[in-house]
This record gives sequence, C-alpha cells and structure tokens, in this order.
Amino acid sequence: MNKIQATQNLDKVVSQIEGARLRVSDHHIVKLIAVSKYSSTKDIETLYNVGQRAYGENKVQDLKEKMVILDELPLEWHFIGHLQKNKINNLIDAKPTLMHSLDSLELAHELNKKLLAKNRTMKCLLQINCANEESKTGFKEEEAFDAYKSILKDCSAIKLIGVMSIGAHSKERLEIKKSFLSTKKIYEQVKPFGARYCSMGMSSDFELAIECGSNMIRVGSSLFK
Ligand SMILES: *Cc1c(COP(=O)(O)O)cnc(C)c1O
Repeated sequence: MNKIQATQNLDKVVSQIEGARLRVSDHHIVKLIAVSKYSSTKDIETLYNVGQRAYGENKVQDLKEKMVILDELPLEWHFIGHLQKNKINNLIDAKPTLMHSLDSLELAHELNKKLLAKNRTMKCLLQINCANEESKTGFKEEEAFDAYKSILKDCSAIKLIGVMSIGAHSKERLEIKKSFLSTKKIYEQVKPFGARYCSMGMSSDFELAIECGSNMIRVGSSLFK
C-alpha cells in the first residue's frame, strides 16, 4: 500500500463515518480502530503517516511483535481477538490500550487473578454474542447485563468500560441491524455503571453500526487494500 492509496482509503472511511454519525447527532463522536491483523508493519506505518493512530490485532503474538517493531511511533493498540488462557500474561505485559473481547466469566476471573498478581489493571469491553451464533464467543444477550455487573463487583483489576460485538453473519441488513440494536440496548443498560464505549461495526457494516449507536468501529479491509 502506497501513501496515495492509504490517503484514499482513510479519507473514504472517515467521510463515511462522518455521514453516518451526523445522521445520529452532531454530538455523536466515533472512534476508528484500524484492524491491522492481515497487514504488515510497513503498511501500518504508511497509514499512521496519513493520520491513523489506533490499531487492533486479534492475536497476542502478532500484537507484541508489531508493537516492538513500531515502538518509535505513538500508536494506540487494541486487542480484539479471543484470548486463550495461556496468553493472558503475554497480553498483560503488552499493555494494550483496550481489550475488546472479554468473552466469558472464566476468562474474566483468570485475567483478574493474573492482573492482581502483577499489580496491574486492564481496560476491557464485554463481548456480546448478539446474534446468538454458535461460531462466535461472547455473552448471550440475556446474560450480558448480569455478567457485566458481576465482573464489576468481583474483578477489581478489570476496568470494564463498555461492550463489543460482531454484527450478525448475514446478508440481510435487517438481521445485522437487529443484532446491533440488541447490543446497543445492553450498552444503554450498563451506561449507569460506567460504560462509555459501544464497539461494533467492521468494513462491511460500520455505517449501519454507527446509525445503531456504535461509537467505536473496527475496520480492517477497507483501510488496508
Ligand atoms: C478482522 C476483524 C475486524 C475487521 O474486519 P474487516 O472486515 O476487515 O473490516 C473487526 N473486528 C474483529 C473482531 C475482527 O476480528
């Protein structure tokens, strides 16, 4: 990806975000996370040079390697993948800005224990499996609210600041919209408990996600192509 391509990709996504967020309200601010999981550090650097600072990776090993190589740049790193238990310490040591994918109580307790042992905290989002899909991890719609409160109560090292979900895997816009609206509903329920981020929307559906209330989107293929 050269600089011209990167500029075009970023400009297009940013103007789509702008259009969608203004359809919600001019006070609705959306944060863009560039998902770099299929991209080289060279492409990340190119995109940084045209104005993109926050990146997301779904594997702890890749996150660590890219962080080390790009250490000189003031980047923000997000972890967006399923976290295996044996990778917890590695993720803690990487100090991500935000972990989007807290997807079970078991993981929450294990992560909390390891954070406490290192005298550290981690900002996290609760992942919701909003379309109830077998292929996805995360809390079911009906368990999410109680899980959110129980992690707040029992896991003092986890700073829970919102929710995340992946839209329904469907070609039907209505199905996808339904799944976003169900996540938004849970986000509204946990706002009084300190939630600030509703992370939903990817390349194929981020405008719809924003219109449904997302304020953080994770976009890969539209930025890196
Ligand atoms: C890969 C990935 C994305 C980005 O997907 P694109 O379709 O490339 O925009 C967003 N969120 C998660 C959790 C991902 O794994």
